[in-house]
Amino acid sequence: MSAKPLFKRVLLKASGEALMGSQGFGIDVAVADRIAGDIAEARRIGVEVGVVVGGGNIFRGVAVASKGGDRVTGDHMGMLATVINALALATSLRKLDIDTVVLSAIAMPEICESFSQRAALHHLAQGRVVIFAGGTGNPFFTTDSAAALRAAEIGAQAIFKGTQVDGIYSADPKKDPAATRFDSLTHDEVLQKGLAVMDVAAVALARENHIPIIVFSIHEKGGFGEILSGAGRMTIVTDN
Ligand code: UDP
Repeated sequence: MSAKPLFKRVLLKASGEALMGSQGFGIDVAVADRIAGDIAEARRIGVEVGVVVGGGNIFRGVAVASKGGDRVTGDHMGMLATVINALALATSLRKLDIDTVVLSAIAMPEICESFSQRAALHHLAQGRVVIFAGGTGNPFFTTDSAAALRAAEIGAQAIFKGTQVDGIYSADPKKDPAATRFDSLTHDEVLQKGLAVMDVAAVALARENHIPIIVFSIHEKGGFGEILSGAGRMTIVTDN
């Protein structure tokens, strides 16, 4: 690995599905520990890391809405699910002696600190991993949008979107053997081609703030650190 990482500060988006591992539901602690190990490696090479965690392994608001329930309440439940995941990932990081703080978009002071940009910048400057819980704090959004929003707020130089595969493909590579991986794309191309990598609001926000999105496999041990060091397989989305 090269001595100097490509970025000083990044935002990692880990979905709930990633934390679930091969289980059908909930958190696979071994997977959370491995992702924590990858974040620890990024810290070791001097990269400041913010993390947005999803909640889809536990709850998604649309599940309530599709059964005739209230979408807003469902989304509140989904946002609470992200807090559970954030606490799990923080636990895995602390086991590795990585100084970590959870900042929630929804105030729950007995459990974790509340999000503010000032608090986030302070903790990052102190070398802490900052886990952003509770999504944006608003219904009808996703944690992808939260990732783009927090990345802009903390001045992240890139959003690392961890997915099941090692980049953006022309079609789902798990279903279509002819699918090819893009090395690079622009934000506009992702939106125009309707590539399902992050939701439209997230890509648009990243584009507006000129933040590259790096799509990589979160399942590959060491993959995060490798890309930070200038190697590894990924697709990079930039505005030019
Ligand atoms: N959610 C929300 N507002 C946000 C972020 C998340 O209402 O800003 C809710 C929404 O119901 C969503 C759920 O939390 O389905 C879990 O987030 P997401 O689906 O983004 O998780 P992931 O797919 O990354 O696991």
